[in-house]
Parts: sequence; C-alpha cells; structure tokens
Amino acid sequence: MTLQTLCFDADDTLWHDDSLFDFTHRRFHELMAAYASPDHLEARLQAAEERNLHLYGYGVKGFTLSMIETALEVMHADAPVSMIGEILAAGRAMLGLPVRLLEGVSTTLRTLSEQYRLVLISRGELLNQEQKLASSGLGDLFEAVEIVSSKDRATYARLFARYGEAGTSAMIGNSLQADVLPAIEAGGWGVHIPYASRWSPESEASGDHDRFVRLSGMAELPAWLLSLN
Ligand SMILES: [Mg+2]
Repeated sequence: MTLQTLCFDADDTLWHDDSLFDFTHRRFHELMAAYASPDHLEARLQAAEERNLHLYGYGVKGFTLSMIETALEVMHADAPVSMIGEILAAGRAMLGLPVRLLEGVSTTLRTLSEQYRLVLISRGELLNQEQKLASSGLGDLFEAVEIVSSKDRATYARLFARYGEAGTSAMIGNSLQADVLPAIEAGGWGVHIPYASRWSPESEASGDHDRFVRLSGMAELPAWLLSLN
C-alpha cells in the first residue's frame, strides 16, 4: 500500500494559528474590561462568531467584525469611535504577524514532496492563507492549494478525485471533526496530529478505523507512511 497524495490542513497543522486568536481575545478583553465581565464578554463574542460563521466564514476578518458587533452589543451601541478603531487595529495586527511553523514541518514536507503529491486544503480567507503560505516558504512544495468554505465528506471526495483517488490519498490535520473523520468517510486516510496546547484525549472522540492514525508530530509522518508499504 503506497499513498500518492498527501493533503494538509494549514492552521495549527503547518503553522500556529490559535495562539494568535488567543492573543487578540486577551486584547479585546482589556479593551472591554470596563463594560462587561470576562464571562459575559466571551459568551457574547462566541455567540456572534457562531451567528456570523455562515456569512463570514473562518478567518481574521470575520472575527474582527464579530468583535465589533460584540462591543456594540455590550455597550448598547454607545461604543466610541476610538474603541472601534482599537478593535480594528487588533484584528489587523493579526494579519501582519509572521508565520511560525510548527516543529518538524519544514523538513518533513521538503522530504515528502520528493515522493508524494502535496496539496494544501484549508478553510479561511483566500488572500490571508495565500500570504501565510508565501511567507512560510513552503509554497513551492504544494502542487495545489485549495481554499474551501466547508470541510465535509463531499469536499474531500471531490478533492481526492481531483488529485488522484481517495484510496491512495490522506488528509493530515489537527482537527478530527474537520480534517480527519470526513476524509475517512470520503474513502481516504486520516492522519490526526493534535495541536499540542489545545488537545486532550477527552476533547474529541477518538477515531477508530483502519485508515486512521494519530501522530504526535509532523516528524513522525514519513515513518508512518513507510510502515504502510
Ligand atoms: Mg487546523
């Protein structure tokens, strides 16, 4: 059994992403400290993000709009213009930060690109993801970059067919729900590499399937691929 196409998630699989959002969350809490308790603010922000997800999709710009919406909500639409400016600045700062690759990613992908077809599959905003890929230095290693609005069985079935066939394709990512399980449902292999600071065994149901594996880091991927042969 030799796989031919390796598809990679981007955020928190190739580079750090959640930690940026954590940082901006803290900044938002600082800005709003006088107007809402942390719990109330967080609940309102989360509700706004969920409400807007189908309109804005995943990414920094949608997150920024949801922060502004939350500020207007908790300040009863009396948010000063300067506050809106501060929130916009906090969001914009996220877009300009340098990409920090996860450990083992650069070396591993460079090695694997000599033998496998690499495809990047990410949700999020096209421009932002392209900029991150360019500044990551990994851009040349991927045969294709697919920015999708949802990661479900149909998406993976379509993309596996586009770049090979499902049975010889794998999706590698930090999210069981978005990256791994729907890829397996589509007939491919699923490789779960949890993002260290977020994942606990209880946080997500364990995958249990012939075409599933969980690795603790990207550097373990080549050995697992060899073990399939
Ligand atoms: Mg991810």
